[in-house]
Amino acid sequence: MALPAELSHLLRVIREPLVCARCADDVASGAAGDVSMRDYGRLEAGFTEAGLQVWCLRHDVNVVHVDFGGATPEADFRCLERRVN
Ligand SMILES: [Zn+2]
Repeated sequence: MALPAELSHLLRVIREPLVCARCADDVASGAAGDVSMRDYGRLEAGFTEAGLQVWCLRHDVNVVHVDFGGATPEADFRCLERRVN
């Protein structure tokens, strides 16, 4: 069964993963060992007073803070799973 187009954003459509700059340095330099950025990163994300923040738990630093500028962007928290037959 084809997925309705209006739900396609609920699949994994990440184009540019968010990474901590310090974690990226660790992986690039080899200091993290033989591990991928995806496996090394330890990120937490959540809403703040002004918007949304991604935090590196490994380095205890900000990765990015997105200020919504007072707007309330549309957010979709539905979980969509592919059915395997
Ligand atoms: Zn980090």
